Amino acid sequence: MYLDDLTQLFGVSGFEKSVREYIQSFCKSYADDIFVDQIGNLIVFKKGTDHPAKKRIMISAHMDEIGFAVTDVTDQGFLKVRYMGGISNKVSLYQKIQFRKGVIGVVLSNGKEEDDKDFSSLYVDIGASSKEEAMSLIDIGEPASYIGPFTPLTGRLIASKAMDDRIGCYILMRVLSEMETPPMHDVFFVFSVQEEVGLRGAKVAVHTCKPDIGVAVDITGSFDTPGAANGFTKLGKGAAIKVMDGSVICDDSLVTFLCTYAASHQIPHQREVLARGGTDAGAIHLFEKGVPSCGISIPTRYAHSPVGIVDMADVGSCIYLLDGMIHSQSLDEKNPA
Ligand SMILES: [Zn+2]
Repeated sequence: MYLDDLTQLFGVSGFEKSVREYIQSFCKSYADDIFVDQIGNLIVFKKGTDHPAKKRIMISAHMDEIGFAVTDVTDQGFLKVRYMGGISNKVSLYQKIQFRKGVIGVVLSNGKEEDDKDFSSLYVDIGASSKEEAMSLIDIGEPASYIGPFTPLTGRLIASKAMDDRIGCYILMRVLSEMETPPMHDVFFVFSVQEEVGLRGAKVAVHTCKPDIGVAVDITGSFDTPGAANGFTKLGKGAAIKVMDGSVICDDSLVTFLCTYAASHQIPHQREVLARGGTDAGAIHLFEKGVPSCGISIPTRYAHSPVGIVDMADVGSCIYLLDGMIHSQSLDEKNPA
């Protein structure tokens, strides 16, 4: 089991190096080609059959996680920070965070925040007693992530920081390493960078892959907790097949294919509509003349927190569905094979 290691690696947007190195060393023995592009995406190529109907499929899961970066240090040695990706004040208060070089701090507030996204009131206490001491320990711009240990809960539920989207990376690694026969299609497994700050890695990787079809493997909401917003997807109900989110309206025919395939292979699944937020599919589908794209998502409670929770049964369903897709001769909605 390597999901525990994967979630605990440091990988705030733009600083994904240790995640990339870990995944690269795991994937290299399974790849037909493996390389890192100039922005830091890891691209693992798996050659398909010689069938004339084969396609180029780009499957993207992002390596980066949300976090913070130091913007200033006060005379008393407290750090001011900005957010890297979608973080709320409410979630951050009283959390422990770890900077890339190892320094640990606690997030606090001066109590004057106007709204949940106003981070000017936040400060980080690393225990330094002066500006000089703090500056000797951290650099301006240094990133930090939540501390959130990998924790098995009841049943097949697990909690951790960075579940978004190390769980997607894990699914790609499982599909790559466990496939019994080569895929029907040429598959580019892309472990992308900087998704949380605007799908930046995928926008670059799509130029390398030049896909006929795009797939984002990422988390989605789980609307099954007290006071949850309206939403359909729930933990334990299977792989979530994206219909749309804030960044993409999925290709109708691919959505139908995935639903039909899942139903005919007894793979638990649910349709997904996410009111806000996006995935790498948002970048892929706009490439050149357009790329039919879809998403296979993992329902996740408390995303963008130190305690994102997924159900490993759903993860298994996503693995089966993705493996089925890349081995299917026809991705035709009417005739999935
Ligand atoms: Zn994500």
